[in-house]
Amino acid sequence: MQEFFEEDARVGVLTTQPLGRVLDYRAPEGGCRLGAFVEVPLGPRKVTGVVWGPGEGDFDAARLRPVIRVLDAPPMTPEMRAFLERAGAYTLTPMPAMLRLATRVPGLGDPPSMRKVYRLGEGQPLRMTEARTRVLDAAREMGGLALTLGELAEAAGVTPSVVKGLVKTGAIREEDSPRDTAFPRLDPDLPGKALTDDQAAAAARLRAGSRSGDYGTVLLKGVTGSGKTEVYLEAVAEALRMGRQALVLLPEIALTAEFLTRVEARFGARPAEWHSGVTMTERRRTWKMVAEGQAQLVVGARSALFLPFQRLGLIVVDEEHDPSYKQEDGVLYNARDMAVLRASLNGARVVLASATPSLESWANADAGKYERLDLTARFGPAVMPEMRSLDMRGEDLPSDRWISATLARAVETRIAAGEQALLFLNRRGYAPVTLCRACGHQVGCDQCDARMVEHRFLKRLVCHQCGESKPIPERCPACDAEDRLAAVGPGVERLAEEARALFPEARIAVLSSDMYGTARQLKAEIEAIAAGGADIVIGTQLVAKGHNFPLLTLVGVIDADLGLQGSDLRAAERTFQLMRQVAGRAGRAEKPGLALLQTYQPEHPVIRAILSGDEEAFWRAEAGERLAAGMPPYGRLAGIILSGGDVGQVFDLGNTLARNDGALRRAGAQVFGPAAAPVARVRGRHRVRLLVKAPRGVALQPALAEWVAPLRLKGDLRLAIDIDPQSF
Ligand code: ADP
Ligand code: ZN
Repeated sequence: MQEFFEEDARVGVLTTQPLGRVLDYRAPEGGCRLGAFVEVPLGPRKVTGVVWGPGEGDFDAARLRPVIRVLDAPPMTPEMRAFLERAGAYTLTPMPAMLRLATRVPGLGDPPSMRKVYRLGEGQPLRMTEARTRVLDAAREMGGLALTLGELAEAAGVTPSVVKGLVKTGAIREEDSPRDTAFPRLDPDLPGKALTDDQAAAAARLRAGSRSGDYGTVLLKGVTGSGKTEVYLEAVAEALRMGRQALVLLPEIALTAEFLTRVEARFGARPAEWHSGVTMTERRRTWKMVAEGQAQLVVGARSALFLPFQRLGLIVVDEEHDPSYKQEDGVLYNARDMAVLRASLNGARVVLASATPSLESWANADAGKYERLDLTARFGPAVMPEMRSLDMRGEDLPSDRWISATLARAVETRIAAGEQALLFLNRRGYAPVTLCRACGHQVGCDQCDARMVEHRFLKRLVCHQCGESKPIPERCPACDAEDRLAAVGPGVERLAEEARALFPEARIAVLSSDMYGTARQLKAEIEAIAAGGADIVIGTQLVAKGHNFPLLTLVGVIDADLGLQGSDLRAAERTFQLMRQVAGRAGRAEKPGLALLQTYQPEHPVIRAILSGDEEAFWRAEAGERLAAGMPPYGRLAGIILSGGDVGQVFDLGNTLARNDGALRRAGAQVFGPAAAPVARVRGRHRVRLLVKAPRGVALQPALAEWVAPLRLKGDLRLAIDIDPQSF
């Protein structure tokens, strides 16, 4: 393909605007390169785009509107353009939306010297207003960090003019943004930790892979605490030695703090970070340094996959089974799968690390598509925790209590010995149901088909679907009876209440995402717990994810049966993963750990598989069931979610689609539904789902595209296609 376009030549520019695919423009003065980031006119506006090709229209080039300017950023690489095209085709996402994922950075291409930044100054305003106070508070909270005008105004919830007003008084200082400073060099040749024989063997395989310079994916399966991180850092080291960039994806930002410290210990400097907690200014710098090939290692959330790496050599997906890798909003993609796609286009390596791999990755390794490396023992004196079920049928607990006498005794023993206990319940809030004892009404969300969950800590009822909340009412919204609303069932807050009554002397910490205002507060809490600042930790699945609490020796699972209810085909896999991960929190240091699973069905095959520890047997059995049902990973699945304000219209649309399934049938696919979606109403919109199922060899996306193409969505009706849905 043509690499450079002379001045006035026709160029095709892909923009981030949802208007068609590639638009033709005239190359600017000095010409432009293929892949260049440019600013182009679109109607009355100026928008960002990328030179995508020679342009296709037959319109006289001389009469096209010219590109306004080429932005000061390295051109998008051919691999990146191919990645966006392929990922867009896979997820059936229009290209402008794909480009938006890759350009979500403020002030892209602005020369740094043109930018002003703002921080706390010395001056005192004569007149204080509430808005001004908020700005000064926000600036103070940032410490020495400078923000752009927009960022500071947004952080304070004021208009930019309030900030400007404070600049005049000297209370806020305006200064030129410093030139983007380079990231410190990471040194792959610093001595790492001495690896055990098993670790060294796995690390050697990974290094050899990195040296090959070819694409390849490895499933690094190691029990919790086996040193997977130490091992894959050696793959990172090798990529850096080869002069290539590496990306480590983590499922939770709360995990990055510990991880950054470990990277610094290994390579002598901190890597770049990319996630929602990073300031806009810092993001801009990171984006640029990644594009210039200067940032060697990025640690980030799934969106880091769309950073403009110049010489990507390795992607690590840590805790690869984690459901949060699936983006459920906007562009629906699975970061694990997209990592494999991106690496395959870059001749890069992928390491998928997990103690409990997804069935997809297990099956790919089983079929020989991925190499598999196993670490079967914990590092050092630590051994795998013992796991036992606790048959609740014999425990005779009152209906408003959830900690059995057996579990309570175990907790007492541990805290008397100066160790920590974790009580795990995967339910946020105080109680999942608010019930009127007079009329039986359950308080639900006005906008969603979901119950309101009492959060006593926030003193509100909260909808976990849409986030809407309201004060806890005194009267029943249905029958108006006073003081008859009762909290039914346990959430972590209620469990904490029970634990406080049972263990009045103990220091109790609750770890639940909704109880911490900011990622920083959550991080601080996790560090305090790790340092021994609590005797009992009560937590949701937030605690299952890779934290190291060295003093923790007991895990009590309050309701091991919770995930097994419902008809989701993934329920067994998820419960298995979650229980093994949670149990893995125990006994990470010298003292052996114990996990007790409270269950009413100790004979359930999944519970038995969790306890037996025979993971291969579990996966083989699961795989067998999926294979028999033609379900993923042995069959292909897509979810079609239709939504709208009028339930009748949404169903009509669903029925129309289901009736006109010729394109699907010709391809060998089958459609099921329409049926009410798992959550049938969200934010006032009714949701209906169709499932499309096909054997593995079927090219599903083109068939889906052909199938929905004739559809004209009227009014507020919407259609979203979810390839490889998480629940089915
Ligand atoms: P995983 O990611 O498999 O759960 P980690 O890599 O977090 O395991 O290792 C668990 C703990 O053991 C960490 O504190 C880590 O620093 C330590 N560790 C693992 N391998 C070694 C080693 N070879 N030398 C020293 N410490 C190690
Ligand atoms: Zn709601």
